[in-house]
Amino acid sequence: MKLLEERIRKDGTVKAGNVLKVDSFLNHQMDIDLFNEMGKEWARLFADRKITKILTVEASGIGIACVVFAKKSQSVNIDGEVYSTKIESFTHKRVYDVIVSKKFLHPEDHILIIDDFLANGCALEGLIDIVNKAGASVEGVGIAVEKGFQK
Ligand code: 5GP
Repeated sequence: MKLLEERIRKDGTVKAGNVLKVDSFLNHQMDIDLFNEMGKEWARLFADRKITKILTVEASGIGIACVVFAKKSQSVNIDGEVYSTKIESFTHKRVYDVIVSKKFLHPEDHILIIDDFLANGCALEGLIDIVNKAGASVEGVGIAVEKGFQK
């Protein structure tokens, strides 16, 4: 997506440790016009798939995915059983237990996974693990920024 590439060049900054900071338009303040264009592109790419839900991981994927998001800790708000997995956070350098309530993922769900960044793929692998544990199917994965230079 040319629009996103141009925006990263204009407003993104590179921090130590290969971190691209895009908080002015992607994951702190959100540019909804840009998100709408990204949404149209994902809709085009997955138009032939029967998607019933979109899944992401908290927190910064939430804005672009607008859906069911995996939570990074068990909170009092989560009642009942959960699907869980472990994800090593690229930005926080620690391992999180990530959970999704069993109420929100079902075997008949066809899931599109959306996230803001793909670095080493840990977040993505964790989300795929959760979908597999629910017996649902992954129809596709959409990532805003793929850092192709990382493993
Ligand atoms: P991975 O699990 O693929 O190593 O890293 C993906 C996760 O780390 C994403 O959910 C994203 O929140 C965060 N992340 C990875 N690289 C960057 C980056 O360069 N900038 C920002 N803002 N977040 C990143």
